[in-house]
Amino acid sequence: QAKAAGRNTYRFFSPEMLDQVLERAQLVDDLRKALHNKEFLLYYQPQVTDKGEVIGAEALVRWQHPEKGTVSPAAFIPIAEETDLILLLGQQVLETACQQLLDWSSRQGYEHLTLAVNISVRQFQQVDFVEQVTELIQRYAVNPKRLKLEVTESLLMDDEDILLTAEKMEQLQALGVGFSLDDFGTGYSSLTYLKKLPLDQLKIDKSFVSDLLIDAQDLDIARTIVSLGHSLNLAVIAEGVENQEQQERLAALGCFSYQGYFFGRPLPIEAFHQWMENL
Ligand code: C2E
Ligand code: MG
Ligand code: MG
Ligand code: MG
Repeated sequence: QAKAAGRNTYRFFSPEMLDQVLERAQLVDDLRKALHNKEFLLYYQPQVTDKGEVIGAEALVRWQHPEKGTVSPAAFIPIAEETDLILLLGQQVLETACQQLLDWSSRQGYEHLTLAVNISVRQFQQVDFVEQVTELIQRYAVNPKRLKLEVTESLLMDDEDILLTAEKMEQLQALGVGFSLDDFGTGYSSLTYLKKLPLDQLKIDKSFVSDLLIDAQDLDIARTIVSLGHSLNLAVIAEGVENQEQQERLAALGCFSYQGYFFGRPLPIEAFHQWMENL
């Protein structure tokens, strides 16, 4: 930026910029300590069908900060992704998810649930990512069919060889692990990639769901995603469903799986179990 401003222009760190840099450095430092102190935990949000059956949950990470309380991932995932911390965090999340699947495998009424885990691009691109997942599946005797990995379109757009990405996904899929394409419609997936990659599910981003009833364009996009899913033989789930009208409109489009506050908010595990008991 300084360079673009021209040869004879001098740029200094303003006090505000310095504050930002220090604040970021502090956050990185705090994150590192938090990982060491195991301050991250998972919340679980139910995924349901139009019949009201719970088919699974998405694991969503929270930072249980000793002073700040519960911190949302939006406040720390982007910073973690700029550093190697996302690799450690991602691994902790995956391990906790596998532990939870082990617990559910012997808990009556939970055996069939799938658990969806968000995977960052950098995490997926580690050379040993397939080995990491395989090792956790074995260590916790997880039925791989219960584990679903949520990846975003950015994984398909990143410079890494798409063939390598496809190969890793195929190796995991061969074990039985499922793949869901998260926030679908907000990126720039090419249809060729969508066809070539071993995906199982498209997840309609909540930005399209929120205005479904009032914005004809969002409705058209949702409809297009549903029919694309059907054409490619992929399941389709909608996120961010907040009321019955949205759910009914989605059903009319042919989307019969949902996640959103209308059904249940993300909850700590005890509260999630409580929620399941009260159904
Ligand atoms: P996401 O994977 O798209 O998750 C859905 C987000 O929508 C969650 O936000 C969820 O709480 C929120 N949500 C669910 N239902 C509704 C609804 O009806 N209305 C509204 N307004 N929001 C709803 P959350 O938990 O704050 O997570 C934000 C993002 O952080 C996630 O978006 C995901 O990209 C990222 N994230 C969360 N956990 C992890 C993780 O373990 N690893 C990685 N790499 N990223 C994570
Ligand atoms: Mg997700
Ligand atoms: Mg999503
Ligand atoms: Mg989203």
